[in-house]
Amino acid sequence: MSVTLVPPVATATIPLGELLPRIDAAFACVVGRESVPLPAALGRILAEDVRASAPVPPFPASAVDGWAVRAADLGGAGRTLPVGGRIAAGHPLGGDLRPGHAYRIFTGAAVPPGLDAVAMQEDCRRDGEAVAIPRMRRGENLRPAGETLAEGALALRAGVRVRAQEIGVAAMLGRETLPVRARLRVALFSTGDELREVGMALGPGCIHDANRHLLRGLLQGFGCTVTDFGIVADHALAVRDAIAEATRGHDLAIASGGASVGDEDHIKSALAELGRVDRWRVAIRPGKPLVLGHVGSTPFVGLPGNPVSAMVCFLLVGRPILARLGGLDLPTPRRYPLPAGFALRKTEARREFRRAVVVERDGGAVVELVPGESSGMLTTMTVADGLVDLPEGPLEVAPGDPLAFLPLGELLP
Ligand code: AMP
Ligand code: MG
Repeated sequence: MSVTLVPPVATATIPLGELLPRIDAAFACVVGRESVPLPAALGRILAEDVRASAPVPPFPASAVDGWAVRAADLGGAGRTLPVGGRIAAGHPLGGDLRPGHAYRIFTGAAVPPGLDAVAMQEDCRRDGEAVAIPRMRRGENLRPAGETLAEGALALRAGVRVRAQEIGVAAMLGRETLPVRARLRVALFSTGDELREVGMALGPGCIHDANRHLLRGLLQGFGCTVTDFGIVADHALAVRDAIAEATRGHDLAIASGGASVGDEDHIKSALAELGRVDRWRVAIRPGKPLVLGHVGSTPFVGLPGNPVSAMVCFLLVGRPILARLGGLDLPTPRRYPLPAGFALRKTEARREFRRAVVVERDGGAVVELVPGESSGMLTTMTVADGLVDLPEGPLEVAPGDPLAFLPLGELLP
């Protein structure tokens, strides 16, 4: 008797909450590292921890314009002290400190050893060669050396996306370059006989290919290098060739359309022929027909064709995959509890992500749905502030009920 071993293909529709931990476990960083000058580091992913090679600030500095003193010289009631000299930013005191004196000092100037507080100029009264100063605590208006970063302290953590503030911190450390992850090389194509390139006239039954431009924009925002494989016909061989080409020489291939069960949906069968289908269908709305798989070692993501579904699936599922492959430590997107400004009856079994805006009402914030539920209406994504995350199963929402609001900003770079 012969036994045919059918490789297990996970085609059962999977809840998003189960898919995401699997993605975390299944994908790892595939890109190397490179060193780039600070201006080129913006938006890149930090490849190594950055530590402070010296304390920041490097010396105790005055936080105000005023008078640098030794707090103990002022006693409990304040005192008039002779003026000992002047210390400006970038011009530390030369020579010896004169005990029992107050020094005119400016913000950012080095407070010399022996002085331990700075009185604000507004609180002092100068009279010729002396100045009346109120009582001070040690350390008042003074930024100790290493206040921002002690020597050796962790300044920037590997795996973060470098924003302007990370570049600023690197500059504080005097670094000219940062170690970042190489860019992910992502291949992209659309499938659909109805699709036409922008700039082309539309024949009967045709629409412009929006997804490729949408997805390219998203991928560029995530710092990927994108190869555009254009529009692919709804033809089994054409789709197979496109998947084969797109997965070659790339870290990830992404397609949209043709991922469902229609006669013209060839993505899943072509992927199964060439490589492996790991998952098919995720239980979310919009966006059920999602294909995840591999050709060789290159992952493939087949997104739904409806533009809103393609975008939502990219953000919820594609983004965590990109993060793992690219070496980005993705924080869990924060959902904010906000009251509903509407009533709704949800009958859908799947978890739903509704496009929504946050509006002010009666001095508080409420969530309103963006009109237009069709997953073809990409315009809704241009006005939405985020997505309302409605759990699996039937649900009644009444005005004022708390909802989980997921700002779009939590899903974007
Ligand atoms: P599909 O997933 O191929 O069944 O497509 C679902 C819907 O999305 C259909 O109405 C398609 O015309 C539309 N669609 C598919 N791909 C695109 C695209 N690249 N740009 C705009 N709409 C698309
Ligand atoms: Mg199609």
